Amino acid sequence: MGHRNHRSGRIFRPETSCFGALWLGPAVLPAAGELKDRGREPITPGERVRYNVEVRNRAALIQNREETLELLRAEAGGRRSRLPGARVPPFGGRCKLRGGWMSGYDVVVVGSGISGLSLAHRAALEGRKVLVLERRERIGGCLHSCRHPDGHWYEMGAHTVYNSYGRLLDIVVAAGLADRLVRRGPARARFGLLKDGRVDWLTPPRVLLKLNWLEVALRGPVGIFRGKEGRTVEEYYSGLVGKGNFRRVLSPFFAAVPSQRADAFPVSGPGSLFKKRPRREEFPRSFGLPGGLGEICAAIAAHDKIEVRTGTGVAALHRAGDGFVICTDGGEEIETRIPVLAATHRESARLLRDLAPELSAAVAAIGEVAVESFGVRIRRGRCWMPECAFVVPVDDVFFSVVTRDPFPDPDWRAFAFHFRQGLDREEKIARISDLLKLSPGDLEDPAEERTLLPSPRVGHDRVVGGIDRRLAGLPLGLTGNYFQGLAIEDCIARSESEWERLKARG
Ligand SMILES: Cc1cc2nc3c(=O)[nH]c(=O)nc-3n(C[C@H](O)[C@H](O)[C@H](O)COP(=O)(O)OP(=O)(O)OC[C@H]3O[C@@H](n4cnc5c(N)ncnc54)[C@H](O)[C@@H]3O)c2cc1C
Repeated sequence: MGHRNHRSGRIFRPETSCFGALWLGPAVLPAAGELKDRGREPITPGERVRYNVEVRNRAALIQNREETLELLRAEAGGRRSRLPGARVPPFGGRCKLRGGWMSGYDVVVVGSGISGLSLAHRAALEGRKVLVLERRERIGGCLHSCRHPDGHWYEMGAHTVYNSYGRLLDIVVAAGLADRLVRRGPARARFGLLKDGRVDWLTPPRVLLKLNWLEVALRGPVGIFRGKEGRTVEEYYSGLVGKGNFRRVLSPFFAAVPSQRADAFPVSGPGSLFKKRPRREEFPRSFGLPGGLGEICAAIAAHDKIEVRTGTGVAALHRAGDGFVICTDGGEEIETRIPVLAATHRESARLLRDLAPELSAAVAAIGEVAVESFGVRIRRGRCWMPECAFVVPVDDVFFSVVTRDPFPDPDWRAFAFHFRQGLDREEKIARISDLLKLSPGDLEDPAEERTLLPSPRVGHDRVVGGIDRRLAGLPLGLTGNYFQGLAIEDCIARSESEWERLKARG
């Protein structure tokens, strides 16, 4: 794995750095959190920030000196420094020196999903130093290749990417992964439609046979001339194939794409599910990587100019002079001139609440759903289900089951169930066992994940326009899957345009 889990608690503590203590002697300041113990309660957030910045600036001088000495000693001894943070300032901030700013990181990104990482990637390609802060202990957000010690993996989150994802492919090429792309196997073209306990096995042409063609004949000739603008997915496609066909056949497949009912999504423009994009024929039509899509995230995070700290949630964001201070859940404060919020939209709205209330409200107004994913591995040969890409139900407690069958493994099969919100663990296990016709004991290495996804509605273009208008004057970046759309390619498109805007500001 290319990313590092940054060592926590790197703020200077006198007892852990004899060089620093020797240098500053009695002038060493107490650690940030100790302010409370000095009878100064109550302290305001502003006071705390100013105090901590001061502590950190002085601690930075100590640590810079400590690390310089360490480097000199290492060089004299002809070996590499053991300090993992030696190529960046120790705490990720910058030091204020005689009225000027010495920058540690040019950009600090909150959230290591594909939105945050793709922005970090662009900034790094242009020579900027980037720090990415991630609350979870792993990077990738919805790109989550669940890996096992025996090397087997499956996708708990995003699973299918196409050669029409040109921006993703640019990253793949730049990260040196192009030679590792793997074509999805024959199982990609088989999928199941589950109704009343029975699965119909389909291929793309056979889906057409599921339609009631009388209904199509009655509705299609009128519907085909209705434009997409301002219409929901349901309105547009019901107009083409009829309401019954839409409900029975199309709606379940559309729901499987964003793991939620997509009937009320806009059918075109920002927030829509399907966009016409040119295919890059030199790459397989749909593909993966030998270790799953998570390899792409790991390759981005391994870039020389990118530092990733996992297990570091961001609690608050404040203005400080001509820049910002980012406060982490652990009480650390990190200064930057360019912060980029690439967290889920609810979390970004929260972080913006005091700083830009109107912007925050515009982001918070977007609806959301929670997807509860539950992954299991099964020994090959134990499961009745034929190899397939996925199964979608017409009406059930889950939106889809995605398999690893397009990349078959000799020993294992794996299934990621994407459940509606609200079932407990036992209920999920019971439903999985029931569908796979196995006992709970056959479901090996269960893994659970809860993800929040936006639910765009018709008029999402105006919502995005409102967000961008309010953002225009602010020197911070905002990206995520709630702008162009949920698809990985939409996230990267937003991040790239956001980076262009920010870099133009200097
Ligand atoms: C089950 C599922 C299947 C999907 N399948 C596909 C697919 O096949 N193809 C496709 O194109 N798209 C797919 N998508 C959609 C796509 O994967 C996502 O929309 C996209 O990856 C979202 O990326 P993001 O970076 O915007 O957000 P996220 O991936 O949600 O990343 C946000 C990150 O920010 C972190 N964070 C949040 N708050 C904080 C904080 N305060 N401090 C620090 N970090 C924080 C989170 O932990 C998370 O890692 C799927 C999504 C899901 C859930």
